[in-house]
Amino acid sequence: MLEIAPIPCLSDNYAWLLHDTVTRTTAVVDPGEAEPVGRALAARGLRLDLILLTHHHGDHVGGVAALKAGHGCAVLGAEADANRLPALDRGLKDGDRVAVGRATAVVLDTPGHTRGHISFHFPGDGVLACGDTLFSLGCGRLLEGTAEEMFASLRRFAALPAETRVLCGHEYTLANARFALTVDPDNPALKARAAEAEVLRARGEPTLPSLLGSEMAANPFLRAPDVATLARLRAEKDSFR
Ligand SMILES: [Zn+2]
Repeated sequence: MLEIAPIPCLSDNYAWLLHDTVTRTTAVVDPGEAEPVGRALAARGLRLDLILLTHHHGDHVGGVAALKAGHGCAVLGAEADANRLPALDRGLKDGDRVAVGRATAVVLDTPGHTRGHISFHFPGDGVLACGDTLFSLGCGRLLEGTAEEMFASLRRFAALPAETRVLCGHEYTLANARFALTVDPDNPALKARAAEAEVLRARGEPTLPSLLGSEMAANPFLRAPDVATLARLRAEKDSFR
């Protein structure tokens, strides 16, 4: 039901445009800046109805005020983080449902990168907007949460259907591939995904959305069998150059 498009923001962020063509309802996930989102909307002749926020970092919320002023759209984000998100029209918690036209998202609590991080899963569309929790071939840094929390968040994603399209918050795939290949050098799915990402980036195209099934086969963080392994990988990645 949803048309989906990445909108590059700042240096390597993506806001995600979600549009139901029948009801002409439009949402954007994590508008890090207003200008590119406004251009993407104008190019399609759309008005913005909803802003969905995964977490409070400035590179995910920087465009909210200007978009709200220009479009009068509603802003939705984690109730638990309402004190540090832009003013919310609706606070969300785990299990809440959000309609984008005919499509429905289920809110998942996915802490680890930040304490109040949430993700939006559209089961009927096979879409997961996961902010900075899961990246293609990587996962978010543990800036506030613990490895236990990140592990539990990634397990929730791993339970979703393999054909789920994953809308990540950053274009980190090539850098993540370089690290992933050092820890799992003989994984054919990882080598294939890394090669695919090289081709896409050489053409100036996004490597996202990724497919969850591809990540399950290739992403060492999503494949980590236990918390200790995930914690070790995350620590190694933090100091990897
Ligand atoms: Zn972040």
